[in-house]
This record gives sequence, structure tokens and C-alpha cells, in this order.
Amino acid sequence: MDGMKSGFFLNFYQKIRNNLKSEEIQAFTESNSNQERFNFAYRVSHVHDRLKIHRHERGSPLQPDKDEIFFYKDLKCAMEMKKVGNKFFQNQQWMEALNFYNKSYIMMPKENSTDISIIFANRSAVLYHTQQYDAALKEIERAVDENYPKDLMYKLKERKARCLLAKKNHVEALKAFQEDVKALDDSSLPHEKKMKLERDAQIMIKLMQKNLEIEAKTKKSLKTFQVKEAKKDKKEVVDRFICDAVSFEYTESEGRFAKAGKDIKLGTYLVQEKPHVACLLQIYSQTHCQTCFKRTNVPITCPNCADVIFCSEKCRDEALKTFHQFDFDFIGSLVYHNLQFTQFNAHEISELQYKGKGDVGTSTFIGGGLYPTVAFFNHSCDPGVVRYFNGNVIMVRALKHIPAGEVVAENYGPIFTQVAREERQAQLMKQYHFKCLCKPCLENWPMFREMDDNILRFRCDGHNRTCKNVLLVPLDVNEFMIKCIECGESTNIMKGLKALQDTDMIFKAATRLLEAGDTKNSLGKFVENLDLMDQSLVPPFRSYHLTQQGIRRCIIEFGNKTFL
Ligand SMILES: [Zn+2]
Ligand SMILES: [Zn+2]
Ligand SMILES: [Zn+2]
Ligand SMILES: [Zn+2]
Repeated sequence: MDGMKSGFFLNFYQKIRNNLKSEEIQAFTESNSNQERFNFAYRVSHVHDRLKIHRHERGSPLQPDKDEIFFYKDLKCAMEMKKVGNKFFQNQQWMEALNFYNKSYIMMPKENSTDISIIFANRSAVLYHTQQYDAALKEIERAVDENYPKDLMYKLKERKARCLLAKKNHVEALKAFQEDVKALDDSSLPHEKKMKLERDAQIMIKLMQKNLEIEAKTKKSLKTFQVKEAKKDKKEVVDRFICDAVSFEYTESEGRFAKAGKDIKLGTYLVQEKPHVACLLQIYSQTHCQTCFKRTNVPITCPNCADVIFCSEKCRDEALKTFHQFDFDFIGSLVYHNLQFTQFNAHEISELQYKGKGDVGTSTFIGGGLYPTVAFFNHSCDPGVVRYFNGNVIMVRALKHIPAGEVVAENYGPIFTQVAREERQAQLMKQYHFKCLCKPCLENWPMFREMDDNILRFRCDGHNRTCKNVLLVPLDVNEFMIKCIECGESTNIMKGLKALQDTDMIFKAATRLLEAGDTKNSLGKFVENLDLMDQSLVPPFRSYHLTQQGIRRCIIEFGNKTFL
């Protein structure tokens, strides 16, 4: 601080000091000359704002020729900016980091191409961490073009691979991981560190290859798939059952997705599928069968180790023949490497756990598995299916009546009754990179708590019930013939009003049965209730969604459950 004993800079320094973050102060004081400090301060935008105030307070402008020098390239200053950017980066303050990398880049003399390439690489890291994968890939390309140091290249290749993986571009991601392994040869890392990184990359390569293999196999087998009968009540399960009412279609924009080939009734078994590969969480290795994931009180042991148990000799023999002899475990690697399941079309496997009497149960994650057929279902914020597990066999059943021709959608997380549209869309974009165009999103359906109980939503009977208009009728209506503004015909809502009175009673009866543990009869009542409402009313409205929730609740009861 020697050069700062008095005068303009001391004054200036004191004025801005309180506005600087500590890392900025450090960089500021590390600068050597007043000129450097001034350049630095100018580039820090909020300091610049202070400077303007300062000028204003002084009442006289600075020398104009001094102003001009701020726009010269300045290596020293650029490096300082980068340093500040790096500190923000370490604190995961991504936008601030990017801001300083940009300032550094703009100040950097063009001869320093290696430094420029490092700035590009740093920007790509920020963009990767903020899920802007396309922009990150562009930055990586720029860094490579600009003479990025060979011994650091492995970092860029790995980042490139992860961006591509996030974009679900598995073919290119595989190539990038292979390039990553090659680039590691040029690194100047200590041998041990190099070996570890290479091992990680090799695991990723194996994962990608395996995943591509499974994808290809599934696509092929779906084309020639013969419908098999589901043996849903027997212990034996076919590897895969797909209901013949479900057809898989393909479009360029949506990829492959499931559609109703004919009318699907509520409760219909749509898909039943064994996992291609699955992994049980280790904490369940002494309570659940390692092969089928069913809980057992009378385990069969493995002849060779004490790590796992089985529910039967059959499951044990199957394990010894197949997965249990390999150390390498697909899903285990996903979990270990902290990868998103969805990037590999994997699903979490769950179990309903009850703690004592009267507990409503908690759905608990016990493992993960790869279900290639289920991966083809698109998302809707108002899903048409519910899924649950028998051991590790996934069961997908219709949660509503789905007319022929409509998309059969599952749910990837946010449900419209619980999560606001903006939040749902942001979440789906961030995790799955698509803009949701489901009905609740397009029509901006209200969330459950926003639904208006004072307005009834009647179906228009016009044009032989082909009119799609919804008749909004206040609860205290006095007339029974409601005219539709779209088709001009009138609908008699008398029958609908009468049915509504019945639904209240049926709903209560269904709830009582569910609480008493009579799932089967409860489900019957809930379905009866939904049918009644479907005849004259149109969702969304509260009692409709409460009924759907009851149905979902009952169906899940058919899956894994345990009383702790
Ligand atoms: Zn088993
Ligand atoms: Zn063993
Ligand atoms: Zn949606
Ligand atoms: Zn109408």
C-alpha cells in the first residue's frame, strides 16, 4: 500500500473499500502502480459506479486523455480480472465469475492466445455448471481453436463429454470420453492422479457403450414386439409385457413416445417390465433379495460372500450365473459417479414403508434400474399412468380413461396440482431439456389450492357431445338449461347436479375403505366416483383430483410395501 499514502487514490480507495468484496480488495491491492489500480477499478463495474459518484462530488471531470487509456488492452489487468473470476468460481458464484472472465477476455491482448484460450475454457466451466450445455460446447471449441495448452486438454475433453451426456447425445459423448483418455497422456499430472482420472473415464466409456447397446436392442425389439399375456397374479414374471392398446410412435420432434392405439380403461396394465440392469442400495442388502429386490424374512445366503441375501434358491442361482460374478455394476456406477438417472433412462425403484398403524406410508427409494420400454413414455404434468414396483419389476397402469389416439404420458416429477407452471417448466427444461406442452401447461390450469369450488365445469352436450366447450356454471345457479356460446345448443345440467350429490357420498365411502385397509373395494368406489364425474363434468376441479389421488393411492398399494 506504499503508493497510496495520500492524494486522489487514498481518497478513492477509502470511498470504494466498503463496496468491494474481499477477493476484489486483494486483487486491487496486489496491483503495483496507480495506473494499474485505476485500470482495475475501472473494470470492476460497481466500482466504476462509485467513481462516477466521486466525479460528481468533486465537481470537475478527470483529464479526458486519462479516460482513453482504460480502453487499451492490458495483460496485467486482464490476469487480475481472471484471478477474481476464479475466486468467484470457487465460491460457485457463477454469474459473477462469468462477468469477470468476460472483462478479462476483453482486456486481454490478442498476442496472448493461450491466456485467451484459458478464459474460454473457464467460461465453458461456468456455462456447464449453469446447465447451458450448447453455449459451453461452443466455448470449448473456441478454446481448442485458440491454442489451449495440450497438458490441460483432458479437462476440456471431459467437460465436452459431460455436456454431450447431459444433452443425451450418447454417441458423441462416448467419442469425447475416448478423446479424454487420449488427452490424459499429454497431461503433466502425477502418475497416480492420471491413473485415477483414466479409470473414471474408462468407467464412463463402458457405461456409454452398455447404454447404447441397450438402446439399440430395445428399439429393435419394439418394432417386432409380440404381445404376450401378462402373468400378473403369478410369481413368474415375463421379462416384458406391453398391453396391445399401447402403440409406440416416432416423430422427429418428440422421438419415440407411447400412444393409445384403442380406448384404454382406467386401471389397465399397460407395461410390466423386468429391469435390464438394476442395483439395490447397499443398506438394503441384508433385508432384500439381491436379484428380485423383494423383502424377505427367511433369506438364502450366497455360498461365497456375506454381502448379499436372496429370497430363494432360484434368485441365488440366477445371480451366480449373471450379475453377481461381475464387479462392474451399471447402476452402481451411476450412483457412484453421481449421474442423473434420467440421462440413462433409469428409474428409481421404491417401496412403501409404513411406520405403525394409521401411518399413510412413505415411498422410499431402495435402488435403481434400467427400464427401456418405460423410458419411451413422454411426460405430462397431468399423467395418464401410475407406476409402482413388484420387487424390481416395474408396473405401469392407466390412471384414467385414455381415448384412442391420445398420448399415454407418465410424469417425470412436477404435477400441475402441486407445482406452479413456471416452476414446472423451469425444472423440466433444466433436467430434461424440453418445453412441456401438456394440457395443464398449454391451458394454464390452476393449481389445486387455486381451484374455484364455486364454479362447476359442465361438459357441453352439443353436436352429439362432440362440442369441446366447457360450460362454466356458478354453484348457486337457478336455471337448468345452459346455452353454449360455441355450438349454440343447450345442455340440461339437472342430471349432472344430481350425480354430483352422489359423488360426495361415494368419495367418503371410498376414503373409509382405504383407511380400513380394504384397498380393493376402495379402488372400486373411487373409480365409480370418477366415472360419474366424467359423465357430466370436465377437469380440473378439486373433487376430481382428490378422487384421482385416491385411485393412485390404491394402485400403489399393490406394489412393494413393508411395515417397519
Ligand atoms: Zn428374489
Ligand atoms: Zn456373493
Ligand atoms: Zn406440463
Ligand atoms: Zn357446445
